Amino acid sequence: MKELYVSSDGMSAEYPRYYRQSLDQLKREQRKLSLCQKGSENRNKQRIKVAKIHEKVTNQRKDFLHKQSKQITNAVDAVCIEDLDMKGMSQALNFGKSVMDNGFGMFVTMLNYKLMDQGKQLVKIDRWFPSSKRCSSCGTVKNTLLLSERTYHCEDCGMKMDRDYNASINIKVEGIRLLLA
Ligand SMILES: [Zn+2]
Repeated sequence: MKELYVSSDGMSAEYPRYYRQSLDQLKREQRKLSLCQKGSENRNKQRIKVAKIHEKVTNQRKDFLHKQSKQITNAVDAVCIEDLDMKGMSQALNFGKSVMDNGFGMFVTMLNYKLMDQGKQLVKIDRWFPSSKRCSSCGTVKNTLLLSERTYHCEDCGMKMDRDYNASINIKVEGIRLLLA
């Protein structure tokens, strides 16, 4: 989950180092806050400190998402994405807040209006589409694919590919099919 996205043209975006550092700082200061005595002056000061870092983190994330969505919008005519149910996903996988904090929902919202502004399209692929389980080379669909399997290995045609990259190609093909339908 350290990447915001992986695209079918081989692009991916990792959150910048300064952002991850701010997140670490936030965690550290939140831990300190939890140790401060309730009702104390120290706790009050620490609470304000945490709130300020929180604001910084939020702004850095927003800024990053704006830049990424703008860059993609300017480069292409349509974007096909998987319509992930982020809330269900974070609950199901027990990621807690981390998936939400990854900002993917906000990223999709920004992409959507930036594309629309330019008369371009955002195509959402049904979340039940087997983007990860399908071999982008021969079309075979696996029965099971563990989250821990980061490389897709097709037993039918022998294709080996990064799991997310394989999924992104499937999403692109399905998106084009929907656009032409
Ligand atoms: Zn295959």
